[in-house]
Amino acid sequence: MLLSWMNDAFTQKGIDSPRLCAELLLSHVLGCERLRLYMDVDRPASEIERTTLRDLVQRAINHEPVQYLTSEAWFFGMQLRVDRRVLIPRPSTETIVEAVLHHCKSRPGFGGKTGEGVLIADVCTGSGCIALALAKHLPGARVVATDISHDALEVARANAERLNLSDRIEFLEGDLLKPLGDHAKAGHAKSLDFLVSNPPYIPDDEWEAVEPNVKDHEPTLALRGGMDGLALVRPLLNEAPQLVKPEGLVLVEVAASRAAEALGIAKKAPRVAHADIMQDSDGLDRVVRQTLGG
Ligand code: GLN
Repeated sequence: MLLSWMNDAFTQKGIDSPRLCAELLLSHVLGCERLRLYMDVDRPASEIERTTLRDLVQRAINHEPVQYLTSEAWFFGMQLRVDRRVLIPRPSTETIVEAVLHHCKSRPGFGGKTGEGVLIADVCTGSGCIALALAKHLPGARVVATDISHDALEVARANAERLNLSDRIEFLEGDLLKPLGDHAKAGHAKSLDFLVSNPPYIPDDEWEAVEPNVKDHEPTLALRGGMDGLALVRPLLNEAPQLVKPEGLVLVEVAASRAAEALGIAKKAPRVAHADIMQDSDGLDRVVRQTLGG
């Protein structure tokens, strides 16, 4: 049976989660839900399906991420389209989404459960995962999403269209906070309620140890954060608070190994009343949170 053949090949080559990987690829090629693979075990695959599958299995063995092979990734319960122009969304990044939703619900003046009137900036949006999850769960909010990569913005825009969220997300191309500054000068933006970001943050000294599926296939531009992993985190934590209103939040994802250093920077930035570190679902120090003072 195809599934066991793929499972064996992946296990032998040391691919992570071999069974899941086999199921995802097979259901992708057959165009069916994963569960169906076990209901229709005897459905024969056509010659074309077999050839396509052989090619995908070969690529998976070369550590190409299954999300690129199927062009699909899941984030915060949403199915997104991804390809090698963008980083594959990680569950760790959901920490940022949860923090924003919680703040809206629990703090007066942040739009309540629907985020009515709230303005959010998502810097280094990549596939658009954070911006899309927030726009979906806060139907009263508007989001400005930026990225330096034109290619990434194309992927993010296409995701917004597919999810019917493009009327509340504006995409701007440029380096870090620069597009937001231009935007504010042009008189488009009031001050932000939230500024969130998952910038590239892998420090040079950790790069060698990064898994081949990440290092050899995902965009380096979205991963590497300079010598100390703070090349982009530092200017974000220093300058983003200027753009955010009192009691609003700046949330920046960081390398767990650099979280303490990032927290030090976060605390010293102008206008910050309080800064702390949030853990991701694996219990790792992952997101630096700055709460703005009055
Ligand atoms: N969390 C990713 C990884 O370690 C890195 C993401 C990023 O640099 N923003 O694979």
